[in-house]
Amino acid sequence: MAARGRGGPRKNADGPKSPSRGRAKSPAVRGRRGHARARGPSPRTSEPDAGRAPGAARSRGPAPSPPPPTTGTRSRDEDPGRILQRTLDQLPIRKQQRSDSSKIINDVVQKIQKHMETKSASFKDIQKLTTGSYYENLKIRDPDEFDVMFSVPMTRVDVQPFGLDGAFYTVKMKRHPKGPLDAFLSDDIICASTMLKEFRDEVKKAISAAADVKVEPKKTGCPAVTLQLDRSGTKISLDVVLSLEVRSCWPSFTTDGMQIGNWLGTKVRKEYRQQPFHLVAKYEGSDAWRISFSHVEKQILTNHGNKKTCCEKNKKDCCRKQCLKLLKHLIEQLKATNPDLSKFCSYHAKTTLLHACTRRPTDGEWVYADLSQCFQQLLKDFEHYLKEGVLPNFFIPKQNLLSSVSKKSCQALARLIEEQRNNGFPLGSLSLLPPPSAPLLPPLPLGPAASFSSRCFS
Ligand SMILES: [Zn+2]
Repeated sequence: MAARGRGGPRKNADGPKSPSRGRAKSPAVRGRRGHARARGPSPRTSEPDAGRAPGAARSRGPAPSPPPPTTGTRSRDEDPGRILQRTLDQLPIRKQQRSDSSKIINDVVQKIQKHMETKSASFKDIQKLTTGSYYENLKIRDPDEFDVMFSVPMTRVDVQPFGLDGAFYTVKMKRHPKGPLDAFLSDDIICASTMLKEFRDEVKKAISAAADVKVEPKKTGCPAVTLQLDRSGTKISLDVVLSLEVRSCWPSFTTDGMQIGNWLGTKVRKEYRQQPFHLVAKYEGSDAWRISFSHVEKQILTNHGNKKTCCEKNKKDCCRKQCLKLLKHLIEQLKATNPDLSKFCSYHAKTTLLHACTRRPTDGEWVYADLSQCFQQLLKDFEHYLKEGVLPNFFIPKQNLLSSVSKKSCQALARLIEEQRNNGFPLGSLSLLPPPSAPLLPPLPLGPAASFSSRCFS
């Protein structure tokens, strides 16, 4: 994985020129420059736990306000908002590159889907799910790593927790006629390892005629079938993941999760909970399935405004997604130089943001002009979870997403993030903006197990 994708696409994407320089003139950025401290009290003032960047607090109080960032004595590079914006400008994948990658991926995915529908007895009902950071428009760099999930629809199944925290389940077919999944049943329980093996074999057959697609050997602990695509110099790694789509009530472990009532509304919450949920094989050799709500995460992150006009065309932008991208990037950067942090992944960042959005639900608490303050607050949230060693799954409160991470690693990451914040600017010493000639990201020190942990949740 560390060697993955050091080819053309990355070089193109991470060139010295920002792919979205134009943003510097966007309304959002103008707002940051012009109105960050001039506007009246925002809804966050009523929230004791919100926002609270020292500068913002001072601007509302009787004490003298610090000078506005663009007119004070600080240099450009010392303006936190500006540095964050420049960092964000470098993170997205370029449009052309996104388009090239999409074509290649779609071609391979269609081959797999067509093969499953026409040639496979067991997977003929399979459906493609478009989830993950690429489809959520939250992908930061790594334009050469993608995931696609194929799901097998299931009805009339009994889903029973496997373990105490609601993270894993066994799946039993109930009173069913003979069907395509019979080969995977043992006492009516769906055997994940048998199903995965067959799925892998079928994927291999599907792409057997494509000379530019290779199947990677199985990775310990990873249920995905990883394909290496190499077309016209564009190298892409594609994880093909099998899931079960369960069309029934969400498990009882989720009852107290996804508390988005104050943020997106109780009606929306109810609608989401009426959607199917997905189960992904834990790993080959196990018959436990991990529960996934990635399709709901995608919908929440896409329609994230407390008022439905947030981030829509010609409406006010918020900074929720930008904060998430920055946190994901910060974790990646810290992992790159600290092998002890290999177990942290972007799903920890996403979960931290989702919790933050429920605690600070209004759009006024995520005004784009306050990006710097909002990001600082998000870092404090994450630090808190790390110090406690507990980050509850957003959908399953009893499941601690840090349970498999050592206390030492949690404390180390908390310390590193705290150091960043105490530097006066959270990312200042991280060399987020390296010299134009240098590659933007060093290879991540990920082994097979770590690569699973980094791509295991979403
Ligand atoms: Zn928004």
